[in-house]
Amino acid sequence: MSAQTPPTLLKLARQALLRDETLDMSALDKLPMELFPVLFKEALIGRHTATVKAMVAAWPFPCLPVGALMKTPDLETFQAVLAGVDMWLQRKFHPRCLMTPLETLSVTHYQISQSDLNCFSWCQKLFQLKHLDMKGVILFDLDLIPLQVLLENVADTLQSLDLKGCRMKDSQLTVLIPVLSKCSQLSKVSFYDNEFSMSILMDFLQHTANLSKMNVEQYSAPLECYDELGYVSIERFVQLCAEQIDRLRAIRQPKNISFATHICPRCGERCVYGLGTRLCRCWR
Ligand SMILES: [Zn+2]
Repeated sequence: MSAQTPPTLLKLARQALLRDETLDMSALDKLPMELFPVLFKEALIGRHTATVKAMVAAWPFPCLPVGALMKTPDLETFQAVLAGVDMWLQRKFHPRCLMTPLETLSVTHYQISQSDLNCFSWCQKLFQLKHLDMKGVILFDLDLIPLQVLLENVADTLQSLDLKGCRMKDSQLTVLIPVLSKCSQLSKVSFYDNEFSMSILMDFLQHTANLSKMNVEQYSAPLECYDELGYVSIERFVQLCAEQIDRLRAIRQPKNISFATHICPRCGERCVYGLGTRLCRCWR
């Protein structure tokens, strides 16, 4: 005779909630707050889209860490999250991801699809964003027009933009340059770990004359810094980064600007040129 540990009442309650496709916000309003994170995680993993949507709409905390939880890309689940955000913002009663539009969107380390990205261009609740964090979201094979449309809509409000590790190419930065040049409130940008040439970086910097509030700016070292095997040529790295900064100073006075190589495959560190220049361990 085998003895099995019976499921806890909490586990049974979670299972019942996940099975209930008619779950709505009024039911979730009575759910103890401490149950939300674990139930939401299970709903995401199990792709219970109705529950995900209802939970986002009833989310009781000021922060919803969606990016870290969505390890496996799924369009329906992502759309359910966005639909839940819309419902959450439209609820009649709020205290005074509360009536204001979304100010921060953080979707990080996520394998985004073109369909996911397209949502950015029509979700009006995003159109007053102050902070957009998409670090680690791989964009190199996507059409960035939806991101361009979002940036057009937040050009007067956006203060920080993190596109670190997105592996964008020249052609993609070209799409974004005209609209980025209009984001007059930008004070912090990160473009580390993208695949930009010297000429496109220069083109971008030349279009930043109006970004007078820029305080911290981080760019990928140009591709010309690497040799044919992909290793950094330190002489070229220092020379090209110095050239970029000198040319930028002719149009604008940068405050805290840096260029960084990719992580060195030998020592696991990167070389950074700018304020606090430092080389990876191989070159010290
Ligand atoms: Zn190294």
